[in-house]
Amino acid sequence: MQIVCLDLEGVLVPEIWIEFAGRTGIPELRRTTRDEPDYDKLMRFRLDLLAQHKLGLPDIQKVIAEMGPMPGARAFVDGLRERYQVIILSDTFYEFAHPLMRQLGWPTLFCHSLEADSDGVLVNYHLRMPDQKRQAVKRLKELNFKVVAAGDSYNDTAMLGEAHGGILFHPPENVIREFPQYPVTHGYGELRGEIDKAFARATA
Ligand SMILES: [Mg+2]
Repeated sequence: MQIVCLDLEGVLVPEIWIEFAGRTGIPELRRTTRDEPDYDKLMRFRLDLLAQHKLGLPDIQKVIAEMGPMPGARAFVDGLRERYQVIILSDTFYEFAHPLMRQLGWPTLFCHSLEADSDGVLVNYHLRMPDQKRQAVKRLKELNFKVVAAGDSYNDTAMLGEAHGGILFHPPENVIREFPQYPVTHGYGELRGEIDKAFARATA
C-alpha cells in the first residue's frame, strides 16, 4: 500500500497567518518563526493580538474560508486519492484548517489544535507532539506502507528525509540550495509526475 503525505500551507492552501494578516489588516500577524524563533512566544503574541482585535474563532474561520485553496488543489488531491491514500501533515491547527478542508473534500489531516473559551476567544494552543511530520511518516513505514512526501519549506525536510521519496513544491531558493537531494516541482502536474516516479522507484 502506498501513502502520499502532503504539507498543507504553501502546497494546497496559502500561508494561513500571512494571508489572514492581509485580509484582516493586522500586519503584526505576519510575524513568523524567522522573526521570533521561540515558537511559544510567537503563538502567545498571535493569540493576544487576536483577542485585542476581538477576533474569536468564528470570525477567524470566516476569513479563512474566504481564502480558499490554491487553484487546482482540489482536483490534484482528488486525482491522487484515486490511486493512493493521502494524509495531510501540517503544523497548522484543526480549527483554522477546517473551512479549507471542506473545500478540499475532507482529506485526512494530522495537525495541532487550539483551545477557545465559551465566547470563542482563543486562549491556548496544543501541539499534538513534537516533530510530528517525521514521526507520522516513520510510523506509517513501520505499518509497511510505502510513503512519498511533498512539502515546500524547512518544516517539511525531516519528513521528506524520512519518506521513501521526498519532493519539494514551490520551495524558496534557500531550501533548494540546502536540500539539493530533493526534486523541485512548480505545478500540480509536475508534482504528480514526481510522486508516481518516486513510488515506482520505491517499489522496484
Ligand atoms: Mg508549508
